[in-house]
Amino acid sequence: MTTVGTANAPPGSVDTGRLDVGETRDGSTFGLPVAVINGAESGKTLYVQAASDGDELNGIGVVQRIVPRLSPAELSGTVIAVGIVNYHGFQVAEHRNPIDDTKINRTYPGAANGTSSERIAAATYEIAEDADVVLDLHQGSTSRMLDEVRVRCGRRHRLYDDCLELAKTFGCGHVFDQKGPDGQLARVAPDDGIVAVDPELGGAVGWDERSIQNGVDGVFNVLRGYGFLDGDVDTEPQTRAKNFDQYGTPVGGLVRFEHELGDRVSAGETLFEVTDVFGTLKSRIAADNDGVFWRARRLPQVATGEYVCSVGTNVDTY
Ligand SMILES: [Zn+2]
Repeated sequence: MTTVGTANAPPGSVDTGRLDVGETRDGSTFGLPVAVINGAESGKTLYVQAASDGDELNGIGVVQRIVPRLSPAELSGTVIAVGIVNYHGFQVAEHRNPIDDTKINRTYPGAANGTSSERIAAATYEIAEDADVVLDLHQGSTSRMLDEVRVRCGRRHRLYDDCLELAKTFGCGHVFDQKGPDGQLARVAPDDGIVAVDPELGGAVGWDERSIQNGVDGVFNVLRGYGFLDGDVDTEPQTRAKNFDQYGTPVGGLVRFEHELGDRVSAGETLFEVTDVFGTLKSRIAADNDGVFWRARRLPQVATGEYVCSVGTNVDTY
């Protein structure tokens, strides 16, 4: 029997329920939606979570599509999914947890008697730390971003190669390989011996079907690659960046990009132009380094100093 919150699944069955994490402002209890798919055969445990940033809905789209497709009869091991981590942020479509104005993915492994975000992190980390493999589904918030997988444990970590391999198995095509900030699930979990990555499924307002499908394919690649399901995975070389150059604008106006997401850019090449309302060119910004056009703001209007785009640098293939 695998029990997570109110979900109880004996071998060969599926159950869904709620993982209790406290009370809302009106005093009613609230819990995170959890699904347990317990395979007929024993094996490893995969933990998948989505929407730890409350405006990142593509991961929920992935969970929604994988859970109905997982047959316990065909599964070896257990898949546990928490569909919405940032409960309060999700209710109001905000990135951070509005109860304590905190990004939950900076609070792992959490604290059971801590702040709102720390309690949610602790409740979900309790599941994660019993798993073998963790996928923390994110996206580039509401900015436009390519689909990629982040390896956050850092190059000197004993599980670095394993996390890199997990990112390749997931197989979005792009990998960002840089030690993450303190409190990230994908940075913390490897310290407890769990192979973990943070797939970043594009960037959208609402749902992006193409990124969701890439996420579904990625989860099934992991299920096959790690022996949960029969079948092989054809892993493909991934384009990896180890750093970002972030570009802001020196002037106010309207941005026009010269590149599509995923384009290779060379140092000195124009990334974007800023024009005034009547079309007069005010500034043209060039890339400082070679790299891959990775992320871009959604709205064209910018003020002096405002973020415009990111280029992944130190790029190789592995
Ligand atoms: Zn996120």
